Amino acid sequence: MDKNVYVCTGTCSAEVSQEEFENGVTQCGTDGCNMKGHAFEKRVKCVACGNVRKDGESHSH
Ligand SMILES: [Zn+2]
Ligand SMILES: [Zn+2]
Repeated sequence: MDKNVYVCTGTCSAEVSQEEFENGVTQCGTDGCNMKGHAFEKRVKCVACGNVRKDGESHSH
């Protein structure tokens, strides 16, 4: 089963859940991150193995 997550593509590699994103956590706020202030990007996370991939990419075990 997959779930939507949102990630920082910068050096901090932060990851927030769909719920956090909807609650306003939409951009990186990590001091020192080279993408601080930039919007998170949507990813799809496999709950079974933790693999994070771009939306639309296939994933199987
Ligand atoms: Zn960041
Ligand atoms: Zn998987």
